[in-house]
Amino acid sequence: MEEILWEVQYLSPPKTIRYCKKCGMKTEHVSSGLFRVNAQQKSLDIWLIYRCASCKSTWNLTIYSRINPKSIGQTLLNQFMNNDSELAQRYAMDTELLKRSGAEIEAPSYSIIGEIIDFTKDVELKIVSKYSEKVKVSKILQEKLSLTKKVFDEMVSSGVIRLENGADIHKCKLQHDIAVLISGATSILKM
Ligand SMILES: [Zn+2]
Repeated sequence: MEEILWEVQYLSPPKTIRYCKKCGMKTEHVSSGLFRVNAQQKSLDIWLIYRCASCKSTWNLTIYSRINPKSIGQTLLNQFMNNDSELAQRYAMDTELLKRSGAEIEAPSYSIIGEIIDFTKDVELKIVSKYSEKVKVSKILQEKLSLTKKVFDEMVSSGVIRLENGADIHKCKLQHDIAVLISGATSILKM
């Protein structure tokens, strides 16, 4: 059985909407890429600074609130202090964190990075995502495999495509990783 890995990658941070007091309405807020760190001896607060796209008012997205400074380690703390761009990007991509903080999210477009499946082989496909936004596994498979819904449904009902854990592939959403088994696809595709 051939093992193949696909990874979901966002093409941009999600559009982040929240109420702006100055504008008096909901507006898009954009990450400045800058952290604000308030470090005292026993208490540490860290925010990612957003700006209203219309009036530039700031909004601080809480990342850590009143935690023990020792609990995150000096390396990570330095990354926050130095506005590490990858770290800032990671938090700006964290749709669950943004939602918990009261922002409305428009899920970003994404692409699936990975090899094309050779349908003549039996394949164990692992799909991974480092993002918290859940995407329907059936949608990922149909898009990346360029299958019509009809053919995809036929492959699922005949057991050609199935989840390793036996769950219903039509209902399953990708959270962190999922394993998909593909075998005997040529019987459906008449290759
Ligand atoms: Zn505003």
